Amino acid sequence: MYIVMLGAPGSGKGTIGKILSTDLNLVHVSTGDIFREQINKNTNLGKKIQKYLEEGALVPDDVVIETVKARLLEEDVENGAILDGFPRTVAQAEALRDFLKENKPGAKRVAIELDVPDDEIIKRVVNRLICTNKSCGAIYNKETKPPKKENICDVCGSSLKRRDDDNKETVTKRLGIYHQNSKDLIDFYRKNNALYSIYPQDLDIAVKNIKEFLEEYKRK
Ligand code: AMP
Repeated sequence: MYIVMLGAPGSGKGTIGKILSTDLNLVHVSTGDIFREQINKNTNLGKKIQKYLEEGALVPDDVVIETVKARLLEEDVENGAILDGFPRTVAQAEALRDFLKENKPGAKRVAIELDVPDDEIIKRVVNRLICTNKSCGAIYNKETKPPKKENICDVCGSSLKRRDDDNKETVTKRLGIYHQNSKDLIDFYRKNNALYSIYPQDLDIAVKNIKEFLEEYKRK
């Protein structure tokens, strides 16, 4: 199964995507994580996309689509994946649909929309802290989910940091871009696929509801 996580930056795609990935044994593929890794490694791709991430702008569709296709052809993604942060435009959604039809015929495709009000998004993002250990990647919030020890990950003991683009100015821009594209994107999934929308106020309840929906969808 290929599960697309839709939602504004800070809506919980990463947090919920990682829980679903563990519970359903599906690889978590985050385009934002792939891009940040490329920037940190200073690769050609990293150099090409750095300015977009710094400005909170979207990386051009052709670059994103090529990156995701290459990732989805890797062996560990054979049985499906949780896609976090992709697609963000209808062109990307169409490319994903065509790619899966061709390369993974018969695979189930479903979209989960995390629908969170903008004022809450801004509060969540400016307080977000992320574990610097890539293989851990735990996500905290200074107000609602602080680490036990300041700036230290509860899970693996590595240091925590704020993402460079998690400031009020950039998140407001990222949110604007999300709203420009989200209506068409959600309409696309409503028409083409199964779509489940939820306002994830309580994390455990949201995960439980999403898993129940996925169970039911798998049986269809
Ligand atoms: P995220 O970690 O999902 O918030 O993504 C961080 C940044 O990476 C975004 O603000 C964009 O600059 C870029 N990015 C990630 N995924 C995509 C995508 N599907 N399309 C375009 N840009 C993306």
